[in-house]
Amino acid sequence: MMLMQHLNTMDPEIKGWIEKELARQRDGLEMIPSENFTSLAVMEAMGSILTNKYSEGYPGKRYYGGNQFIDEVENLARDRAKKLFGVEHANVQPYSGSPANQAVCFALLNPGDTILGMELAQGGHLTHGYKVNFSGKYYRAVNYGVDPKTHLLDYEAIRAIAIKEKPKLIICGATAYPRQIDFAKFSAIAHEVNAYLLADISHISGLVISGVHQSPVPYADVIMTTTHKTLRGPRGAMILVPKAADRLHDVHHPDSKRNLAELIDAAIIPGLQGGPHNHQTAAIAVALKEAATPEFKKYGEQIVKNAKTLAEALTTGGLSLITGGTDNHLILANVTPLGLTGQQAQELLDSVGITMNKNMIPYDTRKPLDPSGIRLGTPALTSRGFTEKDMVKVGELITITLKNPDDSVKLDAVRKGVKELTDSHPLYPDLK
Ligand SMILES: *Cc1c(COP(=O)(O)O)cnc(C)c1O
Repeated sequence: MMLMQHLNTMDPEIKGWIEKELARQRDGLEMIPSENFTSLAVMEAMGSILTNKYSEGYPGKRYYGGNQFIDEVENLARDRAKKLFGVEHANVQPYSGSPANQAVCFALLNPGDTILGMELAQGGHLTHGYKVNFSGKYYRAVNYGVDPKTHLLDYEAIRAIAIKEKPKLIICGATAYPRQIDFAKFSAIAHEVNAYLLADISHISGLVISGVHQSPVPYADVIMTTTHKTLRGPRGAMILVPKAADRLHDVHHPDSKRNLAELIDAAIIPGLQGGPHNHQTAAIAVALKEAATPEFKKYGEQIVKNAKTLAEALTTGGLSLITGGTDNHLILANVTPLGLTGQQAQELLDSVGITMNKNMIPYDTRKPLDPSGIRLGTPALTSRGFTEKDMVKVGELITITLKNPDDSVKLDAVRKGVKELTDSHPLYPDLK
């Protein structure tokens, strides 16, 4: 692997752990829906000498000298992002998704303003207004959830909350919602109550690019996405502004003379961050180039086909899926009917080489550290080349495991099945 000879001499301990982690990624079924396997090209950019450079500011307007090549890299990343998503402005400097959401709030809101986001326990993100997060501490956060019976977003209920609470910002997007999000409906609600709409597409941006999920571009004021989930780039994030010249409609905002693009850029630096991570910017640029190919479109389509096939296999195996299935890359299942908790299911699956995470299900009666559900998805396995016929087997292995927690013979057979699947789709064969 890149630079590993030097690491071997300087710090064999860390090298050893990286090798162990590589083997773990290779030999297991990676099904955490927010994870993926980025390309070696992305990793080469990420592991490059660009990490050495300070570049506070933006291309053409830096506080340090020597940025002529960094400017080219960041311009490429921005231009590729704008073209790929069809937006007028892109900021590629956020260190990750959470700081990016913080920047959007910092740009559009004053402390104490009301924000409306999806409740964490029902599928939202910490940064969408959770009480101990910055978003719940510095703003007056109110939440919407899903319908108690269908577990689907209920847009009439969301509208009613918006009318009552008058948020200045509505955040749509989720970390654990297995269905499509209707950005047009969110936009209508935001317009009705004169709120900004932030579409957080961290989980689904790769699906949006592939055309298998509605795009928020015609509807949202601002879009945030991480770059390391279905987009399959390095760890990082981007803030996209569909209409750069749009202005704040709140005349009392101290910065109302600036347009949305300027407000976002100023929120990143000098608002929240210092020097951008140039190696990360370069790796994002590479990932965006990859995402613009016809192969990537097929990849996104395959993620959804795989998830639907897996959902059917799990249902056939007796699992109870929230909303009865999936439209996207992820599945949320209630494991308590099998006599297990989410924590037990996660540990049991880990012990046979299948990695996923415990998760709250809507209206869960259990606690976050040992909830009723598990959350799993197909982006990473699809990157390894898994197709529908593999997903049928994966579904079988999962249900056999969950139904036979104490049967060591059956669990050993599952371990063998995992090995057969991973051997037939090698991960990073070029890495020695
Ligand atoms: C992953 C995620 C984030 C945060 O990203 P980090 O890079 O982990 O900080 C924000 N919002 C949503 C919806 C996410 O899924």
